[in-house]
Amino acid sequence: MIQIPKGCKDVLPAQAHEWQYIEDVARKTAASYAFKEIRTPVFEHTELFSRGVGDTTDIVNKEMYTFLDKGGRSVTLRPEGTAGVARAFIEHGLMGGVLPFKSYYLISAFRYERPQAGRLREFHQFGCELYGAAGAEADAEVISLADAFLKNLGLKKVELRINSIGCKHCRARYHEALKAYFTPHLAEMCEDCKARFAKNPMRMLDCKVEGCKKIAAGAPRMLDYLCEDCTAHFERVKALLTSAGVTFTVDPSIVRGLDYYSRTVFEFVSDAAGAQGTVLGGGRYDTLLEQMDSKPVPAAGFAAGMERLLLVMAAEGCLPKEEGGVSVYLAGMDAASREKSFLLAGQLRAQGISCETDLMERSVKAQFKYADKTGARYIIVLGERELQEGEVEVKDLRGGTAERVKLEEIVTYFKNKEE
Ligand code: ATP
Ligand code: MG
Repeated sequence: MIQIPKGCKDVLPAQAHEWQYIEDVARKTAASYAFKEIRTPVFEHTELFSRGVGDTTDIVNKEMYTFLDKGGRSVTLRPEGTAGVARAFIEHGLMGGVLPFKSYYLISAFRYERPQAGRLREFHQFGCELYGAAGAEADAEVISLADAFLKNLGLKKVELRINSIGCKHCRARYHEALKAYFTPHLAEMCEDCKARFAKNPMRMLDCKVEGCKKIAAGAPRMLDYLCEDCTAHFERVKALLTSAGVTFTVDPSIVRGLDYYSRTVFEFVSDAAGAQGTVLGGGRYDTLLEQMDSKPVPAAGFAAGMERLLLVMAAEGCLPKEEGGVSVYLAGMDAASREKSFLLAGQLRAQGISCETDLMERSVKAQFKYADKTGARYIIVLGERELQEGEVEVKDLRGGTAERVKLEEIVTYFKNKEE
């Protein structure tokens, strides 16, 4: 039998409500901050990611699903959402439109990783992008949107960690300090870290190998090297968050996995997600658009991993319960009453009332069982007598009560109940 590819997951109908809930909360929270949805392709030219995400990152170095299409062009399944949004923003000349540009996306993303709990090859993200605003208010808005999203999901134990990784100016000095620190340890570090040392030593702070982590723990901190402007920016972000009631801790170890970050970086972490503790990550990336041949446009944003959120929500007990079944189940007895059920069902559905009729040629008893099992709210049995009398009994399966209703008044009867 052909099975699902490794690292992918099916969402079966019994779980769909959990996804719909989390997507609904995401959309509503984004809308409350006036962010609008953007949809970009699942695949892009490979170059977009090697340039946009950066060729010193794990994503570009080892995780991309890249292939040649039939025309011989190299394309890649998006490993994240930001690069595609930035491309669309530039391509459609949106920097000439209303700024700031605020958008959100709900997407699937693809990374060739070793599958584990909370780490898949096809996974899903909710992300926000805010372009055009350089001030600390934009960082604070994006972080507070992320915080509101998690709170609206009912999560209480997810913690916000923030840091500043400075700008190109102060980071140059910091890179030197890092290199001086790592040089005597370099021989004991992993091959990836040796490559990072040459290309981007800050990335060594993000290594997941135990030995490297221990060494990195003693490294100099970016916060001690921030220039005056970067310090002032970070202080303002912290002050705004504090006044908005967003609790955080400053964590100098956060550097984020992508090349394009500058100044503010942040992560929301939870113990409940197991080894993959980060459920949401983001920051400011003022050089990204420039890196993609646009004129410089300041930018900030985040992405949350939906599968990890679901794990944390399960652990914190805030997953929603599945909603009940249809409102009305119409049980037919013989050919004529089944036909009438089918007709009535159509009229009810046209009024937005969900209803079902038998498609399995079941006995009335078996239809009752089915209606009960699937959580139908009301059941109506139609037979020869009901058709003759032009009246049916509407049984409330939850309340246990019953009412007699004229056939021609059924639709109005349920419409009134809805109100
Ligand atoms: P990690 O350090 O765990 O690999 P990352 O830095 O690569 O994460 P980002 O690129 O910042 O992750 O993606 C944002 C969020 O998307 C992460 O915080 C996480 O919740 C989620 N995410 C990233 N990779 C995966 C994956 N392979 N499977 C499931 N979720 C993921
Ligand atoms: Mg990763």
